[in-house]
Amino acid sequence: MKRSLTLFTRLLLAFLLVMLVSTLSNYVAMEAFSPVFLNYHLRHTHTSASLTADTQAELRVAHQRAMRQATLWGGIVSLLAAGFVSYVVSSRIARPIKQMQRASRHIAEGHYQQRLSLAAPGEIADLAKDLNNMAATLESSEARRVALIGNVAHEFRTPLSSLHGYVEGLEDGLFKPTPGVLSACKRQLGRLERLVDDLSFLSRVESNAEPLQVQATPVKALLEGVSETFQPRFQAKGVRLELRRPEEGTSVLADPLRTLQVLTNLMANALRYTPPGGTVSLWAELDPDGRRVSFHVRDTGSGIDPNDLPHIFTRFYRGDKSRRRDEDGGSGIGLTIAKHFVELQGGRIEVQSQPGQGSHFYFSLVRYADTLALS
Ligand code: ADP
Repeated sequence: MKRSLTLFTRLLLAFLLVMLVSTLSNYVAMEAFSPVFLNYHLRHTHTSASLTADTQAELRVAHQRAMRQATLWGGIVSLLAAGFVSYVVSSRIARPIKQMQRASRHIAEGHYQQRLSLAAPGEIADLAKDLNNMAATLESSEARRVALIGNVAHEFRTPLSSLHGYVEGLEDGLFKPTPGVLSACKRQLGRLERLVDDLSFLSRVESNAEPLQVQATPVKALLEGVSETFQPRFQAKGVRLELRRPEEGTSVLADPLRTLQVLTNLMANALRYTPPGGTVSLWAELDPDGRRVSFHVRDTGSGIDPNDLPHIFTRFYRGDKSRRRDEDGGSGIGLTIAKHFVELQGGRIEVQSQPGQGSHFYFSLVRYADTLALS
């Protein structure tokens, strides 16, 4: 296939063509108008009356020649100057584009650390900035992907090596297959099963496998549903559950099941990290502008270390590394799922926490107009 001209050559040719057209039109205009103007000036100059017809004819010929020569040399000089300027301008435009092309190929090959220089004119610099942002986003999502694989491997390693130890012990006759040993093995298997379930749930959630079922959802029913489900577990642990009901008839535009899942995850954490004798408060309130409803879960539990705070919504991140997973079943994906569901519904989840004083998680959803919700 015939290779098309490069951008640089096209720009250069375009500039030169413009220059050529302007020199030619200059020449044509000179040929057409200079005799007319010369005649006009000869008629209106006093001294020209004394010139004979022959002298005037010679003058016209000499003038015409002089004009042609001047136009020719002027044309050559301006073509050279324009050629130089066109070359500089074309290469200033074409060079960064060429660099971008090389960089985007490099990025496509997986070299996400590639960055472009922003020393380019106008919109080209903006484009380079956007390409750099894109590369930075790809770089951080690649880093997250690698970290995720590491985390998943780490999560599997502990129960697997524990099972391995039991099986080896049984094989070498160090243990007898007593109910205690078998139930320890079953606990590790259960933990592996839960990990696999969590992973597949997370992948379904993050790939948005099921579409959102957004509808008018009464806030009171949501809060009461969560509170009823958790009440027995709170009582068993000796943690007080305080429910503040919202105004009757307040609804949000939301997917009820997903919103329930968010509240459930926040409540499960609040219960998990609050010692007996503590209090967990659950409430919802209208934002000052009346357009959104914010949901709150506040506990008087352990609070979150400021170093952990920026990471708690990251998959498999757990603040307390020493906590034994098989005892309370947290996989470090509860908040990831909560954040995903809230953002999917156009909201934002936030947290304020002080170590030793408790945590306060909250998110807001769009309010559904009361009149419509009642109809
Ligand atoms: P996990 O299954 O470990 O609870 P999450 O994603 O739900 O996973 O939470 C991530 C981390 O955030 C937890 O390991 C914990 O350190 C911290 N966290 C979440 N909620 C609370 C809370 N209410 N109080 C204290 N720490 C919390």
